Amino acid sequence: MTDTTRLRIAVQKSGRLCDGSMELLKAIGVKLSIRDRLLIAHSTNLPIDLLRVRDDDIPGLVMDGVVDLGFIGENELEEKMLERQATNRNASYKELTKLDFGGCRLSIAVPNEFNYQSVQDFNGKSIATTYPYLLERYFKQNNVDASAVMLNGSVEVAPRAGLADAICDLVSTGATLEANGLREVQEIFRSTAVLIQRSGELPAAKQALVDKLMPRIAGVMQAKESKYIMLHAPKDKLKEVQALLPGAENPTLLPLANNDNTVAIHVVCTETLFWETMEKLKALGCSSILVMPIEKMMG
Ligand code: ATP
Ligand code: MG
Repeated sequence: MTDTTRLRIAVQKSGRLCDGSMELLKAIGVKLSIRDRLLIAHSTNLPIDLLRVRDDDIPGLVMDGVVDLGFIGENELEEKMLERQATNRNASYKELTKLDFGGCRLSIAVPNEFNYQSVQDFNGKSIATTYPYLLERYFKQNNVDASAVMLNGSVEVAPRAGLADAICDLVSTGATLEANGLREVQEIFRSTAVLIQRSGELPAAKQALVDKLMPRIAGVMQAKESKYIMLHAPKDKLKEVQALLPGAENPTLLPLANNDNTVAIHVVCTETLFWETMEKLKALGCSSILVMPIEKMMG
């Protein structure tokens, strides 16, 4: 029997979203005992069970209410939503937050010899893809009459194998495309990982746990973007120094022993300091400039 009081979260078992999801869970204080072969992993300190599945299954598990939360790429989520809408199945969910990993784009790429001018060139052509619904929506919006050839893997070899005229696939660097003699011509969807919740009300205890975890997620993501900065600055240049520190409205100023002309500044900046800024600080007479990572934050 499954325990209905435990929050069920679906994560990709292995693949590009797995590390980001697991690292985030760890960072927000969810301890897990994972045995590699098992579908379910239990948290040892919170009432949470992880369901470790293929990413393709995650939108459906959330939309069917089999799990409470899921970590998923927007590309996969949107594709499954369109597929379910087209087949009259429940496609509802709530997006809790966008996440800072899993960034990629879904793009159309053509063989190098394809003389591409505009999206209209795809009229009458066939395009191999794992995302037929997203692709068809894009063509419909642009009044293009092309056909999608569904392939679950090795999409990038389809043109060479004579299966399609072009492809529509996920790209992050473009190296795979290049290696297959293809060139990206049209981005159709931009994606990051998101955390979603099933629609409908959760039991109060589960909702309370979600409400506790969400600020922790925000805190972890904010901490990654922020830096703790310490430096020594000449007292008479404080205004100029402060103007160079991004997002530092209220820095802490500390006196230095045996030095009345200099103060120590401690500040949390909303972004890192680039070398150029550090050089400008140095030129203003600052010294001992330290930029340190922050692990956690709470406002
Ligand atoms: P599974 O076995 O779980 O079905 P998969 O092979 O479908 O895995 P992955 O390649 O692990 O999926 O990608 C999962 C998700 O990671 C993608 O749907 C996308 O949201 C995201 N992603 C980020 N960068 C890339 C990339 N360069 N190529 C493909 N997917 C990427
Ligand atoms: Mg998949």
